[in-house]
Amino acid sequence: MNNLIISTIGSHSALQILFGAKQENFNTKVYCLKDRDSLYRRYPVANEIVTLDSYEDLLEIAADSQEIFIPHGTLIAALGDKLRDISIPMFGNREGMLWEMNRAKNQKLLETAGIRVPRTLKSDDITELAIVKFPGAMGGSGYFVCSSSDEFDTKINDLVSQNKISDYDIKNAQIQEYVTGVTMYPHYFYSGIYERVEMLGIDRRYETNVDALGRLSQNDHPVEPSYKVVGNQPLIARESLLPQILEHGDKLREASTNLFAPGLIGPYCIEMAITSEEIVAFEFTSRIVAGTSLYVNGSPYSKILFNEEMSMAKRIAREIKMAMGQRRLQEFLT
Ligand code: AMP
Repeated sequence: MNNLIISTIGSHSALQILFGAKQENFNTKVYCLKDRDSLYRRYPVANEIVTLDSYEDLLEIAADSQEIFIPHGTLIAALGDKLRDISIPMFGNREGMLWEMNRAKNQKLLETAGIRVPRTLKSDDITELAIVKFPGAMGGSGYFVCSSSDEFDTKINDLVSQNKISDYDIKNAQIQEYVTGVTMYPHYFYSGIYERVEMLGIDRRYETNVDALGRLSQNDHPVEPSYKVVGNQPLIARESLLPQILEHGDKLREASTNLFAPGLIGPYCIEMAITSEEIVAFEFTSRIVAGTSLYVNGSPYSKILFNEEMSMAKRIAREIKMAMGQRRLQEFLT
């Protein structure tokens, strides 16, 4: 057993993260809200369970050189840019998370990497199908589609009269060309030890109600789509698409080194839609994504790469272990 503790907050992909750390013989700790601790008692992945009144309590916890924190989506949703002030050393580049959570910066990294993103539209210039996203909408809830400026105004007015959006939301709404493609979320890992980008698995999100609309004729009963993520499904890509998918991962990592040195470290993801002509990216994420939890036993890609069952969490723990062996751990922590 290793003396080092791998910790995270209890939600999102914590079961996978802690299980992967245990597989690599680390001690594990979970910080969870009071009503969540039973989950981590029922699944024995944490050597220690610390309950918090609020995620903000994390900011009060002193740094411990024997502990490494693994960030995930809930941390970003709960703390936003306050995550900068967490004292516990984190695996990965915190700066990447600050770029992830800011829509303009998120898009800038993708564009700098030369990756095609949806065109941004102005509200009085909508002449094609568009999707409207409000700031902070997590997991795609609260988005709407429209195909003209009049329809945009009508829908905004409806939301205002229902008190669902504020002036701030309207001012900061992002309006994008609607990309009619199937979604694909490749799970990348940048290894500083091997100096390479690995693609360990792919998922697609299962979103309600948009993924239910194909079960209904829109002619008989038009339904307003929503994009709330409720789960993830495994996916493999047609093999001829893989070179492009790998190249996208390489380009993003390369561009990140110029925008926030030393760039992306460890897990990251590009949220893609694939049309019959091209790959378009909605967003990148700079940390483990929830869809990786499909592959606690490894994915077809991670099995082929490592010839063992390699989850994203186990890969993180393996990298930490190798970095410790080479006395290079500090390079991968922020
Ligand atoms: P996001 O919050 O950007 O990750 O988007 C959540 C979901 O909304 C995605 O998984 C897509 O299903 C959908 N979505 C976001 N942007 C677009 C777009 N430009 N065109 C079509 N669908 C989109």
